[in-house]
Amino acid sequence: MYRHEVLVVGAGLAGQRAALAAAQAGRDVAILTKLHPLRSHSGAAQGGINAAVGAEDSVDTHIYDTVKGSDYLGDQDAIEFFCTEAPKVVVEMEHFGTIFSRSADGELARRPFGGAGFPRTIYAADRTGLALLQAIYEHLGSANVTVYEEWDVVELVVREARVQGVVAYHRATGEVAGFAARSVVFATGPAGRMYGRTTNAHSCTGDGVAVAYRAGAWLKDMEFVQFHPTALLESGILITEGARGEGGILKNASGERFMARYAPHVQDLASRDVVSRAIVTEIAEGRGFPGGYVHLELMHLGRERVETRLQEICDFCRNFAGIDPVTQPIPVLPAQHYMMGGIGTNAQGATNLAGLFAAGEAACVSIHGANRLGGNSLLETLVFGKQAGIAAAAHAASAGAAEVPAEAVARVETGIRDRMARKDGPLPLAFRTEIQNVMDTWVGIYRNPGDLGRAAEALGRLRARIGTLRIPDGSRAFNLGVSDAMETEHLLDLAEVVVAGALARKESRGAHARIDFPKRDDVHWMQHTIASYRPEGPQLSYAPVAYTRWEPKERVY
Ligand SMILES: Cc1cc2nc3c(=O)[nH]c(=O)nc-3n(C[C@H](O)[C@H](O)[C@H](O)COP(=O)(O)OP(=O)(O)OC[C@H]3O[C@@H](n4cnc5c(N)ncnc54)[C@H](O)[C@@H]3O)c2cc1C
Repeated sequence: MYRHEVLVVGAGLAGQRAALAAAQAGRDVAILTKLHPLRSHSGAAQGGINAAVGAEDSVDTHIYDTVKGSDYLGDQDAIEFFCTEAPKVVVEMEHFGTIFSRSADGELARRPFGGAGFPRTIYAADRTGLALLQAIYEHLGSANVTVYEEWDVVELVVREARVQGVVAYHRATGEVAGFAARSVVFATGPAGRMYGRTTNAHSCTGDGVAVAYRAGAWLKDMEFVQFHPTALLESGILITEGARGEGGILKNASGERFMARYAPHVQDLASRDVVSRAIVTEIAEGRGFPGGYVHLELMHLGRERVETRLQEICDFCRNFAGIDPVTQPIPVLPAQHYMMGGIGTNAQGATNLAGLFAAGEAACVSIHGANRLGGNSLLETLVFGKQAGIAAAAHAASAGAAEVPAEAVARVETGIRDRMARKDGPLPLAFRTEIQNVMDTWVGIYRNPGDLGRAAEALGRLRARIGTLRIPDGSRAFNLGVSDAMETEHLLDLAEVVVAGALARKESRGAHARIDFPKRDDVHWMQHTIASYRPEGPQLSYAPVAYTRWEPKERVY
């Protein structure tokens, strides 16, 4: 058994920031992660991080844009705290060593992003996530934090009404072990791989969210799934919103700049839900290119600007689509990008389970509400990662000793052996593709009760078979079949919650667009969805949204 005062699961920006804060508070801290920290999906973030810096911008405008972007489902007290912290976070990351791009006068360069009233997105070319991740990782090296790499969290141990640690599986050796901890922080990142067409890395399987849900944590607002408007047609690789921030424009097959019809004021820089719906509407009404896509044009920006501000985008287009964005339009189509929902927390990262904290994309505070603004998620990892670390450290200082019972470890071990011993049954990755097909086909940008009902039935049939998943090989070292099977189970758990929440929510708000209920309904649905695990399926209840200064209005861009 391993033992620490604070155990942070996940080594992306949120996990590392939490670990740093807990270590600075004087606690004995460890990070447990299935990937090397620098391989975390945070490193794939391209476009930038939002903060109101400089005299012309204001924290209040950032707050207002975020509240409006959330379609009034974000908690306004948490959003106020979040936007107020933003300038400090960016300066701190710069002091940690992040090299941000500069404008000609030497100030932090800022680019416009969707749904923002001001060019507020600070960036390091189109590799912002990696620049932040490397800087914080170097800083973590000087803090006293133990890092367990290649470990998958499998179970959260809750006894005597508090969290006491986790059971985890070591990919490198096949060891199953208990990690006792007085406080546990889940920062396990996205769950986008429940969709086949997604910008998320293959590792983004919602593990911590599902493990916490099974252990009794409440999930919040899981039906709100963000689709990014511009992903490469074939591969789903993201073309950052920064491309439109730099002046890129969307065109349909007639060469029309169609966003002028959907968002007359800001056109291509409307928020993501609005632009994604516009693209699928253009295609559905016959104005897309044959095969169903639209063009993103950067050609008018000139070689110099495209190749310096969007270096990685140039590489992606050339290497994965065989086109040169300096001289050719980019064929794009929306793809799943971000989960607004997650483990429900308050602004200090606390959950409904004593001793469990969460931060980053795995958590839902909620500041994104029904639709996240681009650039607000990197910021979220750092603002609330720190808060979760501070709160976890404080809890660990007062909580009694924690234990992981040997039976919990033995149960996980037996489960793995049973799967290895099975002679027939579906293979994990083929089964995962079945989940993805359901979500891609029936739980997309526009939703209707017929499709959602078909999705629920199909997921029910998958549920009946998932107990028969088989791991084809019995070796212990780097047997990725073991992780694949666990991740696939997590995706099914969470897909069920997304569909249940989407079926229940009879309105359209942010990223949740119901064809049969096209309007937002503030009278009945201005509330957060809370999902609790039950063996027969998710149980839903609702919780109020926190308001401070901003009255709900119609959302136009
Ligand atoms: C392609 C792409 C581009 C993006 N661009 C931007 C952008 O420009 N601006 C912006 O604001 N946002 C952007 N986002 C969103 C943003 O990057 C993410 O929401 C954020 O980085 C998530 O950080 P995180 O720390 O929560 O999770 P991650 O960085 O994904 O880290 C998760 C960690 O959890 C660990 N983990 C997962 N499961 C387990 C398990 N079972 N056991 C142990 N460890 C586990 C992983 O090893 C990893 O270390 C982008 C997202 C994508 C996919």
